[in-house]
Parts: sequence; structure tokens; C-alpha cells
Amino acid sequence: MVEQGKQLYEGKAKKVFATNEEDKLIVDYKDDATAFNGLKKGTIVGKGVVNNKMSNYLMKMLEEHGVETHYIEEISDRRTVVKNVQIVPLEVIMRNVVAGSLSKRTGHPEGDVPKMPILELYYKSDELGDPMINEDHALAFGWATREELDTIAATARKVNEILKKFFATVGVDLIDFKIEFGRYKGRIILADEISPDTCRFWDSKTKEKLDKDRFRRDMGGVEGAYHEMMRRIGLAE
Ligand code: UDP
Repeated sequence: MVEQGKQLYEGKAKKVFATNEEDKLIVDYKDDATAFNGLKKGTIVGKGVVNNKMSNYLMKMLEEHGVETHYIEEISDRRTVVKNVQIVPLEVIMRNVVAGSLSKRTGHPEGDVPKMPILELYYKSDELGDPMINEDHALAFGWATREELDTIAATARKVNEILKKFFATVGVDLIDFKIEFGRYKGRIILADEISPDTCRFWDSKTKEKLDKDRFRRDMGGVEGAYHEMMRRIGLAE
């Protein structure tokens, strides 16, 4: 039995605890929500449960498709045992449809479909506001090796194909998402979370937003959207 130890870290949306086993951690998902690098703060009631359960469901699905993840075991509505990885300080964003910062940066309106999925890299730094970087920056500053970047890019594209196909079957367009990777026993594996906090989900027919943009943009119906995503994937009534 994995036993929860002392708290190691409290982030914007999660707490992380040590356990009695050195290579395992416990993640505890909170209802706290932030946006715009912490400038906007709030609570989304029930979000921690949704993000924990949805992320675990998707990680298990990815494992079945041969993508190694940090997921080990869900131990309560909000808590999961995960592999203790060393996080690579990069946020990897995959985009299928134009939205958010890509629209601002390129002038392409939200909803435009680029000729191919777009992979972007950002340097994980709250202090700097997660600036966009390229592979040269990551190599030149030692954030990842050439081999790690190749694995990360190939895995991110594979994850995108698997998730895009899955969400299409439940009537949801996967617009974009952010993932993070960790080093574990010499391998690069998928870590962090995959949830309405880290993905953009639009209803395939109505294009209604079913993700954190409802919070970022003060659209209302935030809890309802998170719950609807749980319902679509069969994790809620
Ligand atoms: N994203 C995230 N964490 C971040 C930044 C972005 O999970 O710190 C996700 C976001 O939810 C969206 C995708 O990455 O699904 C692309 O976000 P974008 O770059 O458009 O930035 P935003 O408009 O969200 O600031």
C-alpha cells in the first residue's frame, strides 16, 4: 500500500506529496483555477475531481496505445499515485484548430484549420510567463537533449492523433492541448495532466466551448462544461 507522506509542493491547481516509496508521488487536484499566469483567480467547484478522473482515464487509454505515462493508480476522487519523474521544463502544445494565443500571434481567426497539426514549445517558467521557444533554445540552454526532443515531438504527435480520434467519437473537437513530459528511469514519459484545464474542447456540432476558456473569458457555465465533458466520456451521468 502506498502511503501519503509530506507535501513537497503546492502549485496553482495541484498539491504533490511524497510517499513511502521513493519512486512514487501522490497528486491531489484542487478546485482552484488561475489564468493569465496567475493574474485571474477563482474556484471551479468539482474541477479537481473532473481533472483527476479525466486525466487518469485518458492516460490509461494512451497506455493501451503504447504511450508510457506517469499514471499508476487512482486512490480517491481527487488523488492519484504517479511515477516520481523529473519534469522536463518544457510545455508542449499541439494545435489542430486556431484558438487563443495562436490567433493573436498570427491574425488567423479562431476556428481556422491549419494545413497540419502545429507543435509549439514553451519554456516552463512562471517568472517569465512561459515564453515560446524553439528546439535550438532548448538544446542551447540544456533544457533537453536532441534525443529527448525527438521523443517528445513524436510522442506529442501520436498523443494528438489518439486523443483527436477518441474525442471525435464523443462529439467533441480537440482544438489544442498542452502536455508535459518527465524523465523516469532513463526514459521520457508523459506526465502532468490532460483535462479541460489543459485542452480546448468544442462541441463538434454547435462549437460550444467545453473547457477552461469559459473561465478565462467570463462566459459562465464553467462547472456545467466540465461536467458535460465527464458525461461525454462516460465518467458521469
Ligand atoms: N495551456 C495550458 N497551460 C498554459 C498555457 C496553455 O494548459 O500555461 C493550454 C490551453 O488550455 C490551450 C492550449 O494550451 O488548450 C493552448 O493555449 P494558448 O497558447 O492558446 O494560450 P491561452 O490562450 O490559453 O493563454
